[in-house]
Amino acid sequence: MAALRARCVLLTGSNRGIGLELVRQLLERPHPPTHVFATCRDPEGPRGKELRDLASKHPNLMLVKLDVANPSAIVSAAKIVEGKLNGAGLNLLINNAGIFTPVSLETVDSEEMIQAYKTNAVGPLLMAQAFLPLLKKAAQDSKEKGLSCNKAAIINISTVMGSIERTPESYFKPVISYRCSKAALNMLTRCQALTYGEAGILCVALHPGWVKTDMGTQEADLTVDTSVQGLLSVLPILSEKHSGTLLNWEGKAIPW
Ligand code: NDP
Repeated sequence: MAALRARCVLLTGSNRGIGLELVRQLLERPHPPTHVFATCRDPEGPRGKELRDLASKHPNLMLVKLDVANPSAIVSAAKIVEGKLNGAGLNLLINNAGIFTPVSLETVDSEEMIQAYKTNAVGPLLMAQAFLPLLKKAAQDSKEKGLSCNKAAIINISTVMGSIERTPESYFKPVISYRCSKAALNMLTRCQALTYGEAGILCVALHPGWVKTDMGTQEADLTVDTSVQGLLSVLPILSEKHSGTLLNWEGKAIPW
């Protein structure tokens, strides 16, 4: 099986749920990345405790404060990461942070729609813009042919709920702001793939499954451990043929 050999990885929303488990499993790999930048809104506060505990055991883990709904915070975080990388590039950007509010067409309002877009679609767009020079640097420095997560990649954690074709079967959960913002993220992924592919950057949207987290609730199908094991086994098999597509945690394609 292909191995994930990305040297420098950055994740958003990494203080709990899928993001925290991605950080944990990345660090526990036999050959972990040299740099894992785990970003979250409040690394110094109570919600950052598990990340701080991990950082005390793993010198390759760096915590960076980052609210993806705040454009200037994204620019500041990119400067901090650039300084820490000391001339190296960023191989893997995982846009994981997301919000989910149980609102229907009847109950949603403009504030909720805007907040969902800011976090779930605009955040990943601005993250890619801000970290693009570091991703390009990683692609240029790599000797690998083609596109891969080992070279340079943007992974947008999306959802089947953003798939227009698959909406009827899951519409018992309307979650309208979430669905629309993740459909926008899916479109963003396709456009990023078309734009950034020339620079050697792979862009893929991944659905982690229905996962037992604060967002997924304990009724969900998958443990966070199983979902993240799946996601981490999909990353190393991704290549140019997957760029601009939506896949699930088992690597199966999901229609737009
Ligand atoms: P959780 O609700 O458990 O965690 C969400 C994470 O996102 C938290 O770390 C939260 O930080 C962070 N976050 C939210 N808003 C922001 C922001 N503005 N800036 C930075 N961080 C932010 O969710 P999951 O772990 O379940 O979900 C992770 C991703 O997976 C999301 O994109 C979600 O849409 C997707 N997904 C999840 C599914 C599931 O079943 N769980 C199914 C399909 C997709 P804080 O602690 O500060 O709030």
